[in-house]
Amino acid sequence: MRVVVVGAGVMGAWTARWLRRAGHAVTLVDRYGPGNTMGSSGDASRITRSSHGPDRHYPVWQRRALGQWRELEREADGELFVNAGVLWLASEGQAFEAESFVSLTALGIPVEQWSRDELASRVPVMNPEGVPWALFEPEAGALLARPAVSATIAAFEADGGEVVVSRVAPPRAAGGALDSVRLDDGRSLQADAFVFACGPWLPDVFPALLGEMIVPHRQDVLQFAVPTGDDRYAPGAMPVWIDFEGSFYGFPSFDGVGLKACPDWLGPRERPDESAREVAEATVEASRAILRRRFPAMAEQAIVRTWTCFYEVTPDAHFVIDRHPDLANAWIAGGGTGHAFKHGPVIGEYLAALVGGDQAAAAALAPPDDRFAIRARATQPSFRTSGRKPLDAELA
Ligand SMILES: Cc1cc2nc3c(=O)[nH]c(=O)nc-3n(C[C@H](O)[C@H](O)[C@H](O)COP(=O)(O)OP(=O)(O)OC[C@H]3O[C@@H](n4cnc5c(N)ncnc54)[C@H](O)[C@@H]3O)c2cc1C
Repeated sequence: MRVVVVGAGVMGAWTARWLRRAGHAVTLVDRYGPGNTMGSSGDASRITRSSHGPDRHYPVWQRRALGQWRELEREADGELFVNAGVLWLASEGQAFEAESFVSLTALGIPVEQWSRDELASRVPVMNPEGVPWALFEPEAGALLARPAVSATIAAFEADGGEVVVSRVAPPRAAGGALDSVRLDDGRSLQADAFVFACGPWLPDVFPALLGEMIVPHRQDVLQFAVPTGDDRYAPGAMPVWIDFEGSFYGFPSFDGVGLKACPDWLGPRERPDESAREVAEATVEASRAILRRRFPAMAEQAIVRTWTCFYEVTPDAHFVIDRHPDLANAWIAGGGTGHAFKHGPVIGEYLAALVGGDQAAAAALAPPDDRFAIRARATQPSFRTSGRKPLDAELA
């Protein structure tokens, strides 16, 4: 079978890789090229963690995907995963950490509960004030996102996959199926099946279908200067951390230069092609406030890097992985809602099984419900992916 995959972010790259491995002729098309910094997958780092409150599907996918990332890392020349551990700062007001502890324990995934005193001794650089206890995932950590996507695409090309750099025009349906897509350079690519994994551009590609189902929100990313030679912020001394209640998260410094600390609440609704991609002063102030509280020595440090990308937000925070309802040979993957990167290998594996008609493989990976389907979805104000504030409050 000939397949065209549009979008070389984490979802498209892994889907292309699995389809190619299954023996299909695959062309991966991206308007900005492999490993670009315009898509959501192009940042330096992404958290991979198992905790997901009471949900037991995402933790299983995350563990499987982490194994696949590590396998890719062994094949590739360079580090893709930093096993720094992931620390959740619990609060009295919500049950996410306690529910995660129950789920992860039941699934046999290593997880620890730390008292505040233990937190103070295990991560001395962090101020534990006001944190009643913490949940620690020792086998979790950070994926080095852009290198990881580039390595995926390099492996796909080494397997005989083809990469094309061009923009694909929004497809026009004909007879309930697609026979080709048009590129900006005037060429057409014909195929038996098409996958659209266009991240925050998906609503522009399928405005009628996805205009309300996937909403791009600009997210600001900041890195603050680590004092020269200060190794208290390095992996090993400091884990990835998530302040669930405060809707903030951060990473240790991987290069000894920048310490990433970012809000997890939804930024302004913006279309990626129209966004100035400028970090808001309010984000800078909020980031300094959280640093002042948790890492006081970092609060007045210079900003060394800024970046923006987009959460592709669905109403219930579940991804979209489904066949186009009117185009029998077109499939859609997106709606990452700020938590899809880690799952990229399994999203690709699952979608490749669906596209290739391998029903047994798809069934083995499928969630226990229709969470990824293209259908009307109710907004779930209480659904949180990683400490995100309720959607209705953010959008108000
Ligand atoms: C600030 C931030 C923090 C995040 N943190 C985490 C985290 O800690 N852990 C986690 O698991 N996830 C996290 N995420 C979510 C995760 O990064 C995204 O959900 C994921 O990277 C989305 O991948 P994608 O392949 O769907 O889209 P993208 O990476 O955006 O890729 C889409 C690609 O499609 C291409 N494209 C678009 N339209 C066209 C067209 N018409 N023709 C050709 N090419 C096209 C683009 O050029 C782009 O390369 C975070 C996201 C953000 C923004």
